[in-house]
Amino acid sequence: MSVTQQQVLDALSRVASPRGVPLTNANVLSAISVTDGKVFFSINVDAAEARVWESVRAQAEAAVRAIPGVSMAMIALTAERKPGAPQAAPAAHRHAHGVQPASAHRPPQGAASPMSKQAEIPGVAAVIAVASGKGGVGKSTTALNLALGLRDLGLRVGLLDADIYGPSVPRLSGINEKPQLNDDRKMIPIKRFGLSIMSIGFLVEENTAMIWRGPMVMSAITQMLRDVAWGTLDILVVDMPPGTGDAQLTLAQNVPLKGAVIISTPQDLSLIDARRGLAMFKKVNVPVLGFIENMSYFQCPECGTRSDIFGHGGARHEAERLGVPFLGEIPLHMSIRTTSDEGNPVVASQPDGPHAAVYRAIGTKVRDQLQGAIAAA
Ligand code: ADP
Repeated sequence: MSVTQQQVLDALSRVASPRGVPLTNANVLSAISVTDGKVFFSINVDAAEARVWESVRAQAEAAVRAIPGVSMAMIALTAERKPGAPQAAPAAHRHAHGVQPASAHRPPQGAASPMSKQAEIPGVAAVIAVASGKGGVGKSTTALNLALGLRDLGLRVGLLDADIYGPSVPRLSGINEKPQLNDDRKMIPIKRFGLSIMSIGFLVEENTAMIWRGPMVMSAITQMLRDVAWGTLDILVVDMPPGTGDAQLTLAQNVPLKGAVIISTPQDLSLIDARRGLAMFKKVNVPVLGFIENMSYFQCPECGTRSDIFGHGGARHEAERLGVPFLGEIPLHMSIRTTSDEGNPVVASQPDGPHAAVYRAIGTKVRDQLQGAIAAA
């Protein structure tokens, strides 16, 4: 039975709003998207009112989920500041996607200490971010292979694809099924290669244009973090959206991160962006576990000869200069790309090969830094 927009509106008309009228008459709803039982929309209010509206958002979500045939409801509270109101983040951190600096999920100003972060995720010992200053440097490929390298160390590992602007984990891991819901209506992550994997790409069609306004980013990611039955994990690897804009800053601030890994290529431009990434995590007191240099040198698939096309070693020097650990160099190699394109990442498909060994060595350095957190859990 397919769910209709009218059914959603009917359900929402039974939810009261703080304006004394039903939610549907409060003039706060965005367009409602209903596809295959999946419902997405946002409630747009002024930032000053966000706190009161959070319970309305939750009620709206419950009402939509109760409609027979609804498999998933993602309802974001979009809280914007009125022009001229004080901003929580500097203008320099605006994101190209039109992200607003205010978010219903951002803690109050001046609350950037680790103590103010959202609660830990039950059962998950350590959440780490894999970030890059810009797109196309191999962040997602590295996140997945690093997760597999950590798995090879005997750890229980999850991967959350939070790159909601371009979720590529479904393709890289060859997953095209949809997550099921458990009895608590939490999504069950897809198990592949011994990892528990979740991506927004499992929920929307690959070609569906996704336009996320700033606060919706956090809302969607919060839901993927907390409405997923992760089970018991030693490490949850979060593949971040690329860049250091406002959405990324909000994420870094709100996800209970034990650390972040920054991926860069050796070129100067990429290194400048990596430095921005470091500054962003420092700002919100998330320890940077280290830099990884991806596409570090070219290894000829035929003869194995190595050439430093991009002037290899930049990330190592930069890490030394900035006093950040250097985690390793990953070569630019055809088999890393082809295995990813086939949905069978190199650490899973060529576990005895040299590339898997590189990712495992990086995983070992990451694990060693998180040892305390994992042991405590
Ligand atoms: P990002 O997440 O930074 O946008 P991706 O992980 O999607 O980047 O990688 C971009 C492209 O580069 C993909 O085609 C991927 O297969 C390829 N790639 C990434 N790392 C390597 C590598 N070390 N060697 C060869 N190809 C790579």
